[in-house]
Amino acid sequence: MDIFQMGNALAQNTGLRIEHGVSLKKYTSLHIGGPAALFATVHTLPQAQALLSAAHELSLPVLLLGGGTNLLISDEGYEGLAVSLRFAGCAIADDGLSVTVGASVPAAALVDHLVHAGRQGLEFAAGLPGTVGGAIAGNAGCFGSSFGEHLQRATVLDAQGNLLEITDPAWFRFAYRHSRLSEELALIVDATFQLQDGDTAELCQTAQSHCHTRRTKHPGKHIRTAGSYFKNLPPKNPGEWRRPAGALLDQVGAKQLHVGDAAVFEKHANIFINRQNASAKDVLQLEALLQARVYDAFGERLEPEVRFVGRRPHHRR
Ligand SMILES: Cc1cc2nc3c(=O)[nH]c(=O)nc-3n(C[C@H](O)[C@H](O)[C@H](O)COP(=O)(O)OP(=O)(O)OC[C@H]3O[C@@H](n4cnc5c(N)ncnc54)[C@H](O)[C@@H]3O)c2cc1C
Repeated sequence: MDIFQMGNALAQNTGLRIEHGVSLKKYTSLHIGGPAALFATVHTLPQAQALLSAAHELSLPVLLLGGGTNLLISDEGYEGLAVSLRFAGCAIADDGLSVTVGASVPAAALVDHLVHAGRQGLEFAAGLPGTVGGAIAGNAGCFGSSFGEHLQRATVLDAQGNLLEITDPAWFRFAYRHSRLSEELALIVDATFQLQDGDTAELCQTAQSHCHTRRTKHPGKHIRTAGSYFKNLPPKNPGEWRRPAGALLDQVGAKQLHVGDAAVFEKHANIFINRQNASAKDVLQLEALLQARVYDAFGERLEPEVRFVGRRPHHRR
């Protein structure tokens, strides 16, 4: 079966509009990436379930797109089915100290709601770009905390489209900027977080202070970026903090570097920006250049935090 026949089969089995060759650029905050062979948008759980099940039947690889704020998509695009998750009706439901939220809710909107309701726990993520689903999948974090630490339960679809009720967060195998979903396909539909009672004024102040730090240290909203490019390094000794990759990158002159339109942000050595028309190849070359400099200077291997999707170019240098 060729890709057009697969698209027709998906459309017939799901009733969804399946598009061919949709550019993935506008689905990512870096604004980089070629076309998806097949593309669909889902708004409801039954649609997502039908689509995953039909894609599984056809052995089609699936890429889930939340806010696209942690993705670098190959210039050649994606050879499977890209699914933009736009769950409607993903309201935030409060139940005492638990809050259940749809996966497509922006993480920052959830935090805003919680701090104003005097619920403590997720305020570290004030102003975090992207969706709740993406934040759980990548165990997003900052200011010493991460999403996985606060998750209580979740509704998930597995790669076959089976509906799973996850009541043990250990299922997710959370680690630093990592979860089980970094390795295998599964779709988060909604999630419940366990919170504490907090003082609204104090929580608002903390959230505002985090947003202020982001505004002063990170690129503005109009700038194309995926945030920190490399993971921070493991601590030297057990119990210590991770070591910021940005500190090493600064010392090897990262802020002066660019490859084509892929450049290091002038105020933060671990943030890459797309100045205008950077390609994924440019970004990967900048990545390799910085990895080599840091390795030569410090013997440390930097690992990307941004998820690369698709086929890598053959000649990276
Ligand atoms: C300016 C800026 C600052 C940032 N600061 C931080 C920071 O402080 N800390 C941090 O950790 N990250 C940071 N990021 C990265 C990014 O915001 C987070 O990783 C965010 O949580 C990604 O969410 P998303 O919805 O955009 O996910 P996407 O980029 O769309 O997807 C990321 C991964 O999650 C998967 N995914 C998305 N939705 C779902 C779902 N519903 N079910 C299953 N899998 C799903 C995707 O398939 C993909 O593998 C920053 C990014 C920017 C642009």
